[in-house]
Amino acid sequence: MDKPTEQLRKILKLEQSRGYEDSAVIGGLDRFLARFSSEYREPFSLPIPSYKALDKRQREEWVKATLGQVESQGDGRGTPERSVSRAKCLQSEASHTRAPPLAKRVAPLDSPIGVLKGMTPRLAARFAKLGVVTARDLLYFFPRHHIDYSRRSRIAELEVGIEQTIVAEVWQASEKRSLRGMRSTEAIVGDETGTVRVIWFNQPYLSKRLPPTTRIALSGRVDLFRDQKVFQSPEYEFVEVSGRPLLRARLGNLSHDDGDLIHTGRLVPVYPLTQGLYPRQVRQVVKEALDLYLPHIEDFLPERVRASAGLVGLSEAIQQAHYPDSKSSKDAARRRLAFDELFLIQLSVLSRKRDWREAEQGISLNAEPEYLARFLVSLPFELTSAQRRVLDDIRGDLAQDKPMSRLLQGEVGSGKTVVATAAMLLAVASGCQAALMAPTEILAEQHFENICRLLDFGDSPRPIVVGLLTGGSRAKQDLHRRIAAGEIDILIGTHALIQKKVEFHRLGLVVVDEQHRFGVMQRAELRQKGTSPHMLVMSATPIPRTLALTLYGDLDISLIDELPPGRREIKTRWLSPRQRQSGYAFVRKQVALGHQAFIICPLIEESENIEVRAATAEYERLSHKVFPDLRIGLLHGRMSTSQKEEVMRHFRAGEIDILVSTSVVEVGIDVPNVTVMLVEGAERFGLAQLHQFRGRVWRSSYQSYCLLLSESPSEEGRERLKLMEETHNGFRLAEEDLRLRGPGEFFGTRQSGLPDLKMAQLSDVGLLELARSEAIWLFEVDAQLERPEHKALSVAVARLRANVNE
Ligand code: ADP
Ligand code: MG
Repeated sequence: MDKPTEQLRKILKLEQSRGYEDSAVIGGLDRFLARFSSEYREPFSLPIPSYKALDKRQREEWVKATLGQVESQGDGRGTPERSVSRAKCLQSEASHTRAPPLAKRVAPLDSPIGVLKGMTPRLAARFAKLGVVTARDLLYFFPRHHIDYSRRSRIAELEVGIEQTIVAEVWQASEKRSLRGMRSTEAIVGDETGTVRVIWFNQPYLSKRLPPTTRIALSGRVDLFRDQKVFQSPEYEFVEVSGRPLLRARLGNLSHDDGDLIHTGRLVPVYPLTQGLYPRQVRQVVKEALDLYLPHIEDFLPERVRASAGLVGLSEAIQQAHYPDSKSSKDAARRRLAFDELFLIQLSVLSRKRDWREAEQGISLNAEPEYLARFLVSLPFELTSAQRRVLDDIRGDLAQDKPMSRLLQGEVGSGKTVVATAAMLLAVASGCQAALMAPTEILAEQHFENICRLLDFGDSPRPIVVGLLTGGSRAKQDLHRRIAAGEIDILIGTHALIQKKVEFHRLGLVVVDEQHRFGVMQRAELRQKGTSPHMLVMSATPIPRTLALTLYGDLDISLIDELPPGRREIKTRWLSPRQRQSGYAFVRKQVALGHQAFIICPLIEESENIEVRAATAEYERLSHKVFPDLRIGLLHGRMSTSQKEEVMRHFRAGEIDILVSTSVVEVGIDVPNVTVMLVEGAERFGLAQLHQFRGRVWRSSYQSYCLLLSESPSEEGRERLKLMEETHNGFRLAEEDLRLRGPGEFFGTRQSGLPDLKMAQLSDVGLLELARSEAIWLFEVDAQLERPEHKALSVAVARLRANVNE
């Protein structure tokens, strides 16, 4: 649509929104129409009447008919693919002014945001703080939410206390100084129904920008002040200054009725901010990027997938996510963008599996069955049937010459370590080495001790040499030599295992414990230590199946869903704040019996610093006021690894009675003498996480207890805590969590190896399954993503894989 026509359209729209009062242009519509028809020859078949002379109904009819014409010869608004028509419109405009085609002028999407108009290095640095570095980042920098200013009112209809928008003319505006010296702008604005006072606190400069007759849109709440309605610091937007419309026609494409309003009169985006970055600025910059790039965005989703999943186009989705026309178009946009995230994860997982499968041959590990049998007989217990089943899976995999990729899930204490040990034994018996990687030194040590004990069975055909390699290991060089020479059969360690210096003689099996603490990359690196060794990943986090398939779709999944017999259930009780003292008394009694206790401090999501400060304060309070006679220790996330391990060592050695800790204690450490865990602010934790905590005191051969202290919980909170008392099934709790609170619990910020999800909720099982089935379908058709129509998709997958591997 050319500019004069666009202007006409806007004015008619404005007129329409103001109830055909002939108030859309100063001086009346007739004057504008006369000028329009003399300057602009585009013939309209409707004669232009004297608008002023028409009654309201006639005005309405005429405006509607004219709008219909204008719009039908315009930009095709209203056709389903608005983004496409928008692109066309922009291009034709550009050629109209003889500019080079836009596509050539636009810097690539991955250029730094510095390429945008008005972006100073300083501003760019502030955006960088929010993770926005490239133009693409900006398009994907979604608002937290929107404020609904779409409710239009006339001044006489303004209601106190609700969000609404008026379009009005400035009558007068001036700077005011309060008694306390605060400088503000005060204005009186009016429309055909009345006037209203507006105050902008602390913004004296605004008064200069509001000469009389300026037409502005104001959005916000109206308050009563001395019985008069007042807008207090509303959002504002200039519509017309001294008779000159400011809404550029180009921007008119953003939404139907409101021209280019971005701060007022619509669903207004609210973006995350940082020091020195203001809402108006961010909206402007994002708008700029949308205008510049959206017409050139290529939709990487194959048309068939898009259609069958019922999704809107990409540029439409991005635009509507920022500046939605309505709530429903915003929802459609979110659905599309969430689908993208899940779909790309699926594809990257599937392509990882594909690469892995295509890699060199694995080593078939076919040990004498006799070997394993003797090991199993040597154990002081019988394997549970779940353990046996999983071990069979693993044996089957190891015998193949394709490398195994298996996720072994099972609750804390379900006996994963025994199974992994059996698998490593099979590798050794087949003439290979095995390695086990744990997330912390102390866990590596713990595994080392346990595994040495398990493997020390008299009936072994030859002694098995187990090595421990951690950052703190002494005589590393000697150890490295022995590993390379094949003198070490099983190597247990931390990240130190994946360092360059470590070379194996013949690595056949890699076991990774506590999977979610390692990135995909580390997994891949460890794997490269051998020629395609088999890989077993262990996780105690109960991940519901759909989610596991999505995130670990490159792994086959085995589950130990049964605990060894005779394990006592941990007694769980929730206590109200009034029962705090009896909770402490209980802890004291357990300590008097020679046991130890954990006290977990509340989760504070805002910042780890605050959490650490709170935990430190709690530690001080407990050691001085509550348990001055006991030995109290402190553990938190701001301590260095070696400090943490030092504290854990003291605790394990029984030199600390009560360990006060933030949630870092979740790391799977065993202190069998701990019989009670008291969790402060229990309502803030997810059930799965509480269950993980509880697992820490579960191994004790004594009866153990978990006390959940919580501020008076809501109805729902009460139900959740009850569930904690009643069930010990981690999966059940995880499903419940996922249903109630989304996946943040076990895939929070501390998770690595998972891309940052902006739109998708991992709890949206329906969308997860859809994304998964579409991805599987696509892989059946074109596993290499090499068809021309999948090119853009393959680039998007590669980009995600590169990001995740960082
Ligand atoms: P996980 O690694 O899954 O947390 P572990 O393998 O460390 O569990 O086992 C926890 C404890 O249970 C260990 O002391 C282990 O010896 C014991 N255990 C394992 N399997 C059995 C079983 N089938 N019967 C009895 N005890 C078992
Ligand atoms: Mg374990």
